[in-house]
Amino acid sequence: MALRFLNTLTRKLENFEPIEQGIVRMYTCGPTVYGPAHIGNFRAYTFEDILRRYLLYKKYHVTQVMNLTDIDDKTIRDSNAAGISLSDHTRKFKDMFFRDLDRLNIQRAEHYPAATEHIPEMVVMINKLLENGCAYRSGHSIYFKISSFPKYGSLSHMKMEDLMAGARVDSDEYEKETASDFALWKGWTDKDGPVFWETSLGKGRPGWHIECSAMSMKYLGEHFDIHTGGVDNIFPHHENEIAQSEGTTGEKFVNCWMHNAHLIVEGRKMAKSEGNYFTVEDLVGQGHNPLAIRYVLMATHYRQQLNFTIEGLEGAKAAITRLKDFKTNVENAHGDSDTNAVRSTIDKAVTGFEAGMDDDLNISPSLAAVFDFVREINSIIAKTGLSESDRTAVMDTLRRFDSVLGIVFTAERDIDSEIETLIQNRIDAKKNKDYKKADQIRADLLNRGIILEDTPSGTKWKRKI
Ligand code: AMP
Ligand code: ZN
Repeated sequence: MALRFLNTLTRKLENFEPIEQGIVRMYTCGPTVYGPAHIGNFRAYTFEDILRRYLLYKKYHVTQVMNLTDIDDKTIRDSNAAGISLSDHTRKFKDMFFRDLDRLNIQRAEHYPAATEHIPEMVVMINKLLENGCAYRSGHSIYFKISSFPKYGSLSHMKMEDLMAGARVDSDEYEKETASDFALWKGWTDKDGPVFWETSLGKGRPGWHIECSAMSMKYLGEHFDIHTGGVDNIFPHHENEIAQSEGTTGEKFVNCWMHNAHLIVEGRKMAKSEGNYFTVEDLVGQGHNPLAIRYVLMATHYRQQLNFTIEGLEGAKAAITRLKDFKTNVENAHGDSDTNAVRSTIDKAVTGFEAGMDDDLNISPSLAAVFDFVREINSIIAKTGLSESDRTAVMDTLRRFDSVLGIVFTAERDIDSEIETLIQNRIDAKKNKDYKKADQIRADLLNRGIILEDTPSGTKWKRKI
């Protein structure tokens, strides 16, 4: 089956054909670095990671760009309130973001452009939009005129007559009902304090939407393959990106738009403004393995809502253990297996895995194919073991699946199993009444940020926050 994706622009499943053969250029809306990203945000980044990894699995060369929004209404509000510079304020959240990406084993994009480092590119675009009649000045600010762009509304499938012609919004994030001309450049006001740029457009700063148009086109060209984000980005953010980009170039901006559904908690979207959020740090601090978080985020189809629960995390842990134990079982399997049986088990698993993923990243049947593979190979091992060449073929298959899943062959997993081995050594030392050794192991682990807790049901461990 050919690889196909649901394109939000057409609302259809479309076969994926990159603009340039063998190469995929994709843009992913990144975090607004005004606080730690929560696991709802990481649902978006995990979906994009699975997309990226599967494109690599399909042997495409991928160039991915993820922006860092380090200037908008919220970053300015919070840095001014804290009395620190915008860059000092956002730096700590950028660092946290990259630490969490690593914990969740999310592959790095090729470029992470920061908005504040691309003001000249935005100014060039805004000047072009003024020349093209797509933008106008009002006071010290500049607005995009949506009536100049007849296709406005095509991504969100809004009708032009629903839009409020002539009305204007200044805030970066606005409600669906108020679709209207939006700010490209915001003239400086007292509220901005020390945050402004002196440019040919005057003293001020860019609006939020223009940054993604300017930075995506800078790194990926004026026309590229895939643009992703959460469904809340469809309107107004992505609608505005299309209007600004196509208003500037007169050409099609993006071929395929892909949007993930929300992660919800008790029926409500997880959001900072709702106060119902967990960060990766919160969950790791409670002793959860970050890869279990990754598993939960990726195991539901990206276009389905995902209801986050702690029980879900526990289930993910069991799935991870099963995969990890399988790897160990294969490593230790020696014997004289029936190569035809092993090869046909592998072929069936690969076909099942790819059929799911090719179908708009439908991961549930793909995971089912992986777990069937685990069960069937385990049963072969129990009967005959594995010959050396069969063992290599099975391990290569697991490695291929895991190049997409990112669960089994990771440093984090190795660290976890090392911790578990040390805990077992401590239990053995205590049994042998070697309390000095047991205390030493506890102290060594504490030095590494691992806290042990002896409970009636055994020793538990967690990472220090
Ligand atoms: P923000 O920092 O709010 O711009 O969000 C960054 C990314 O996370 C965007 O693609 C959002 O659509 C996405 N996002 C925000 N909240 C959630 C959620 N609860 N579930 C899934 N994605 C989300
Ligand atoms: Zn964006």
